Amino acid sequence: MALLDAATDAPPLGGPDLPQERRLVTELPGPRSAAILARKADAVPAGVGHTVPVAAVAAGGGVVVDADGNSLIDLGSGIAVTTVGNAHPKIAAAVAAQVAQFTHTCFMISPYESYIEVAEALNRLTPGDFDKKSALFNSGAEAVENAIKIARKHTGRSAVVAFDHGYHGRTNLTMALTAKSMPYKSGFGPFAPEVYRAPMSYPFRDGLTGAEAASRAISQMEKQIGADNLAAIIIEPIQGEGGFIVPADGFLPALAEWCRANGVVFIADEVQTGFARTGHMFASEIFGVVPDLITTAKGIAGGLPLAAVTGRAEIMDASHAGGLGGTYGGNPIACAAALAAIDVFENDGVIERAQQIGAILTERLTVLQSKDPRIGDVRGHGAMIAAEFVNPETMAPDAPLTSAVAKAAIARGVIVLTCGTYGNVIRFLPPLSIGDDLLNEGLNVIAEALAAA
Ligand SMILES: *Cc1c(COP(=O)(O)O)cnc(C)c1O
Repeated sequence: MALLDAATDAPPLGGPDLPQERRLVTELPGPRSAAILARKADAVPAGVGHTVPVAAVAAGGGVVVDADGNSLIDLGSGIAVTTVGNAHPKIAAAVAAQVAQFTHTCFMISPYESYIEVAEALNRLTPGDFDKKSALFNSGAEAVENAIKIARKHTGRSAVVAFDHGYHGRTNLTMALTAKSMPYKSGFGPFAPEVYRAPMSYPFRDGLTGAEAASRAISQMEKQIGADNLAAIIIEPIQGEGGFIVPADGFLPALAEWCRANGVVFIADEVQTGFARTGHMFASEIFGVVPDLITTAKGIAGGLPLAAVTGRAEIMDASHAGGLGGTYGGNPIACAAALAAIDVFENDGVIERAQQIGAILTERLTVLQSKDPRIGDVRGHGAMIAAEFVNPETMAPDAPLTSAVAKAAIARGVIVLTCGTYGNVIRFLPPLSIGDDLLNEGLNVIAEALAAA
């Protein structure tokens, strides 16, 4: 089956029926992608960058097809978004039906049932067997902003703690919460006040136990802020952009316990880790923590923009009517997509598939590491696994090697993303609809790229 129809020149339909193959028919970018990217350079500001130099026309299963008919292996899922697979048939059908029904009323004007159903599902699926409520928004950053608003209103306090290597978004408050200056913050200040930073648990680099890392963070919060002034701490159970940093066992429960003892709201930012990504519905479960509030987005709706804050009913109810919301928050098309995605998460073996993918990734990368000391660490859970690249003598981060490996893999038709405060981590976030063969082929390409670097 040809990737571009020769007679009509139409792009193929996306979804799982796309040929599941890596196929390069041009160098990247091919002529059509190059022409589209030249128009991008003229029409779109440079601040909106891109990683893979192609223009996508279809995607599904484990591939992304570009305008020249190249088929690339997708190990990024558009940053952990298309977890159930791109153009998933259940989501495509639910979206088409909703678009034909109504596209918008504004939930704050005339509510509709699908928003409430998404809230009910989130309240049921998130950790914690207490009464919960959920509010819906458009993006991860907006969910984080609202979680902070809610925690401040509930506690009557203003200080907020975020952690080293944390990433929470690109709006003003979430830039303040985000740790890394370049590219997320540099030149964009001044930032929102009353945001403080605490040290993270980073076992590969700090060698501390979870309890030691937690008492270091708690002592700093007590001395520099004072629990009485602190509305919330916000933390990613496994840090995403910061380098897939998995905290040592006991770190998160100790923080959560300290929060509970001091009336501080514990917010888990599960925007990247949520919805089956880590082989659990939510990553908090891995560490045995029950957050007061959880923010979600990315994987929630199969690619449609939707985000949520879910948490203890008495905290969520702190705001006066009209204090939360937004024109598009919980848009009916995004809600229809989320309900279809949640159906897939609950009924189609997706969590088990994330665990299988995690086993393959970990096994292959660990074998590579045993032969190549430039891989300092392999870590993560489920379909959220990373390799950290170092100078083997000093363990210093090796960002040039990391970017060379990623660039070479992309040139050979494998979409991979880098991350990490030091830019020395390659992260693997495949859609859970990818087959074993394609995943292994993608990892072969990474291994070749590393050997050649
Ligand atoms: C991506 C991300 C965000 C921001 O989400 P947007 O939808 O890009 O605004 C916030 N927190 C975490 C952990 C993320 O990974």
